[in-house]
Amino acid sequence: MASTICWHCHERAQMVAPRNGADSMRALMSSYDMPILFPDPRFAKDDEFSPFEGLFIYSCVNCGFPNIAEVRVTLEEARSSYDPEDHIVRWLPIEPMGKDYPNVPDGIASIANEVHKCREIGANRAAVILARSAVEGIVADQEEMPSKKKLYERIEDLKKAGKITSRTAEAATAIRLCGNDYVHNVLEPVDREYTEIVIQILDSIIDDLYSNPSLVSQAMAYAERRKKAQREEHNESNR
Ligand SMILES: [Zn+2]
Repeated sequence: MASTICWHCHERAQMVAPRNGADSMRALMSSYDMPILFPDPRFAKDDEFSPFEGLFIYSCVNCGFPNIAEVRVTLEEARSSYDPEDHIVRWLPIEPMGKDYPNVPDGIASIANEVHKCREIGANRAAVILARSAVEGIVADQEEMPSKKKLYERIEDLKKAGKITSRTAEAATAIRLCGNDYVHNVLEPVDREYTEIVIQILDSIIDDLYSNPSLVSQAMAYAERRKKAQREEHNESNR
């Protein structure tokens, strides 16, 4: 059974042949349940079959949306009967998964998620430049008043005001410098390793400022609820 992570529902799900009308090419040509093939055999040129590369449409059993399997087989295999599922090289469309940031303000979570998506599809320049924009968004979110100063001054101001730690300020500065570098040298390639480092630093800033404080307050609220429940239990048993 074919399965993949569906681009639409993001779940790993079974992929099955869509249900076709009886008048479809496939239904006429075969009695067994085959996914619909492209290029359509009625219109494809002969040279498009050698070496054979085709796209088969499947339906996701979780959400019902189509997922396309790219299948490559030799001409001999294509002539004989074969199971396309044994020859799937990849699934389309390629949908980057990104990263969820619970308890992080929507705008910041959205831009950081997009940074991860850029990295996943190998758009390293875009990832690094967007990471710098994410830092700018975080700085703006932390500021009490909108500021027209340069980003490095705004980071310094937040550090002095005790809004961010020196470690977070250093991390933000590192991303600012990397981002600046590529904004001014757009023809420079950016390697994957460097991109990964920038993204890890960005995630550590988000953890410091949003995720960790939110976890701490959740833990405090939990401890408070436990204490209250224990007090009530104690009072009950003393009655
Ligand atoms: Zn799905």
